[in-house]
Amino acid sequence: MEMETTYQLLDGKKTSSNIKEELAIEVKKIKEEGGQIPHLAAILVGDDGASETYVNAKVKACELIGFKSSLFRYDASISELELLAKIEELNNDSSLHGFIVQLPLPDHIDEQKVTEAVAPEKDVDGFHPENVGKMALDLPTFVSATPYGIMQLLERYNIETEGKNCVVIGRSHIVGLPMSILMAKKAYPGNCTVTVCHSRTKDIKEFTTKADIIIVALGSSEFLTADMVKEGVTVIDVGITRIKDESKKSGYRLVGDVKFDEVAAKSSYITPVPGGVGPMTIASLLMNTLTAAKRAS
Ligand code: NAP
Repeated sequence: MEMETTYQLLDGKKTSSNIKEELAIEVKKIKEEGGQIPHLAAILVGDDGASETYVNAKVKACELIGFKSSLFRYDASISELELLAKIEELNNDSSLHGFIVQLPLPDHIDEQKVTEAVAPEKDVDGFHPENVGKMALDLPTFVSATPYGIMQLLERYNIETEGKNCVVIGRSHIVGLPMSILMAKKAYPGNCTVTVCHSRTKDIKEFTTKADIIIVALGSSEFLTADMVKEGVTVIDVGITRIKDESKKSGYRLVGDVKFDEVAAKSSYITPVPGGVGPMTIASLLMNTLTAAKRAS
């Protein structure tokens, strides 16, 4: 019979609140020195429930740590031209240091065009091709919030990464792809041997069973099961799927891409959902905004 290991939770909620406390101290210092208070703006288009939740959480986090925040809401019928005009206005507004356009956008708006319209120095989401390029080349930039949050979590829990086999499941531009680049880079956290799996990978299990670190970002609830991992693995669960649940006030519960209980029993470290990668994403966005404000002053 296999021995069950005791796992340690990578607590994103706690780590993000530590980061927020550190940021609040920085803001206090900036205020005392008469500097510019970091100001983050968000553009929200339409009434997608999840987007609404994420944007509200970002605004609330700004208030909590003493950042200024602005929210610009638009009906789903806004034209691409109008949205691009607003982005241009925010690019030129020196009172704000960074802004995000919450994705997804309605079908009639070209997300790539929108991403490229945001001035790279205000792109605190790190989605602009210039910032993605700089990230890949290890130059100072804004690393996109979710991958940056995962790197922070690994670092703050002193997870060993050098020489480890890391499997990233998913190759999206906002999570999987940057994650695979970051884990392979010549630094800590990093120096991993990285394998990227995606929907065309023939046998994912063949790779995951050899992995020391698995980053799961495909958006398929409870995809990673115990038979797919080896003992002692570190598991980062990025997935968030809303599952109907009448017993919850909201009417749904959040489920990750990992079958938590059984995978946790074989893991050394694992992130929960909720309370893992999600809160770290917000903390990273705030860190990027502080950096943007410092660069602007
Ligand atoms: P995405 O753009 O839909 O990309 C999903 C990736 O997974 C794609 O590369 C896809 O492969 C791959 N994939 C899909 N089904 C697969 C399968 N059966 N086997 C292997 N690979 C498969 O998603 P995303 O934006 O990266 O998001 C992934 C998940 O993370 C979602 O649940 C999302 O809600 C969540 N998320 C969470 C946060 C957070 O802050 N916690 C932030 C962002 C996203 P192909 O490339 O071949 O299509």
